[in-house]
Amino acid sequence: MLQQEIRVRFAPSPTGPFHIGGARSALFNWLLAKKFNGKFIMRIEDTDLERSTKESEEGIKEALHWLGITWDEGTDVGGPYGPYRQTERLDTYDTYTKQLLENGQAYYCYCSEEEIEAERQAQLDKGENPHYGGRCRHLTEEEKAGFVKRGVKPTVRFHVKENQQIMFKDMVRDTVSFDSNGVGDFVIVKSDGVPVYNYAVVVDDALMKITHVIRGEEHLSNTPRQVVLYEALGFVPPVFGHISLILGTDRTKMSKRHGATAVDSYRKLGYLPEAIVNFLALLGWSPGGEKEFFSIEELIQEFSMERVAKNPAVFDVDKLNYISAQYIKKADPELITELAMPHLKEAGYIGDGITGEKKQWLVEVVTLLQEYISYAAEIVNHIDIFFNDNVEFENDEAIQVLKDADVPAVMESFREKLTALEVVDAPNVKALLKSITKELKLGGKKVFMPLRVALTGKMHGPDLDKVVALLGRERIINRLTTTLTKI
Ligand code: GLU
Repeated sequence: MLQQEIRVRFAPSPTGPFHIGGARSALFNWLLAKKFNGKFIMRIEDTDLERSTKESEEGIKEALHWLGITWDEGTDVGGPYGPYRQTERLDTYDTYTKQLLENGQAYYCYCSEEEIEAERQAQLDKGENPHYGGRCRHLTEEEKAGFVKRGVKPTVRFHVKENQQIMFKDMVRDTVSFDSNGVGDFVIVKSDGVPVYNYAVVVDDALMKITHVIRGEEHLSNTPRQVVLYEALGFVPPVFGHISLILGTDRTKMSKRHGATAVDSYRKLGYLPEAIVNFLALLGWSPGGEKEFFSIEELIQEFSMERVAKNPAVFDVDKLNYISAQYIKKADPELITELAMPHLKEAGYIGDGITGEKKQWLVEVVTLLQEYISYAAEIVNHIDIFFNDNVEFENDEAIQVLKDADVPAVMESFREKLTALEVVDAPNVKALLKSITKELKLGGKKVFMPLRVALTGKMHGPDLDKVVALLGRERIINRLTTTLTKI
C-alpha cells in the first residue's frame, strides 16, 4: 500500500524572541518528519504587520539552525508550494475569500470596534460567552450600499452554523469537540484586507499539503474555527496534535520568573544544542523507560506521538542543568572554551583575542573545570583559583584546616620539593605529593587538604596535581608564601 508522505510544518509568527515552547513544537514536528522520512516546512506567519519584525524572523531561523532543525521547504530554501511567507500570499487568500463570499459562507461586516465591544460587554453582563451575534449577516442591500457609500471598510466574517458539534481528531487528546454556538461568526479578513491567523493557516496548511499539525495547547481553542474553514473550503483537515502547556516548577504558566524563556538566552549562556534538544524532547514526550539521554538520532528513532502526554510539561531548570552537565562533560574543551570566553571577558578574567600559549593554557584550565559546570558561562564561578593569586579562604573550616599541627611540615616539604622539581607537570607533581605522604607518614588527606586550601582557599576542587601544574612553580611558591603569612 502506498503510504501518504508525512508533511509537517513549523509556522512561527516573528513577533518576538523565539521561545522554548516554540522550539519544542518545532522539534516534535521535525522528529516526526525525520522518523517517517517526511518533509518539514518552515512558514513565516507575518500577517500581524505591526508586530512582525525581520529581526525576530532571523532570530528564530538562527535558533532553529543552532538546534539542528533543518527545513526542506521555506522562505529561504524555496519549495514547490511557496511562497512560504504569508504576506507574499495575499492574492491566494483573496481567491478563497471571494469564493466564501460568493457562496454565502462569509459576509462583509461593517460593525465598528465600539459596537463589537458593546455587544461583548452586554453578553458578558448576561453571563453569556461573548460571540458576534451576526448582525451584518442580515443587512439589506440598501444598508450595505449605505456603508459602501460612506467608505466604511468592512471586515470579512465567516458564518459558523449554529447548534453544531465541531469535532476533530487529536493525536494527544483523541477526539475533541466544540459547540459551534460558543464559536460564533468570526473575522477571517481584517478591514485592511489582511487575513487573520485562523484563516491564513488553513489555506496554507491545505495548499502546502500538511498532513500533521503539532502545536501548543494554547491553539486548541483556535482549532474549531480552523476545522469549519477546512470544511467550507472543501479541504481535508490535517491530523492535529496539541501538546501540553509548559509550566514552571510551581505549576504556573512558564514565564521569565522560572528562568529564561528565550532559546537564545540558553545559547548565550553556553548550553550545547544537543542538550537543549534532549531536554525539549522530554517536555511532554516520555520515552517509556528510565533512559534520559538521547542523541538526535535516538530521538528520531524513538520519538512517537503516542507517548506525548496530555498533562502539562514542567520546565525544571535543575533537570535541564543535570542533562546539560553530562553533555558539557563530554564536549570538546576547545568548544567549551570558545563558549566560555565571552563570559570570561565580561568578568574581566581575559582580554580580547587571546591566542597561542595563553589560549592553550585556558583550554587546559577549562578541561579541568568542565566536570563542575552545566553550561559554559558557569566556568566563571570556578575559574578564580586560576587567576587570583591572592588566595581567599572560602570559610572558617578552610582556615581551620591550616591550623593542624602537621601543616608547617607539609608546606615546607612541598616548597622544597617543588623548587627542586625539574619539570612541573601533573605526573611529577602527583609523585611529589605522594612522596610527602610517605616521608611525613601522613594520610593523603593530611597533605592534600592543607595544600589545596593554602593554594586555592577552597576545600574542594579539581585534582591538585593538575592545578599545581597549570599554575606553575613561580605562582605556586608565591601563593604559598603569601598564604602562610595570613595564618
Ligand atoms: N503562527 C502561529 C504561532 O506562532 C502558528 C500556530 C500554528 O502552529 O498553527 O503561534
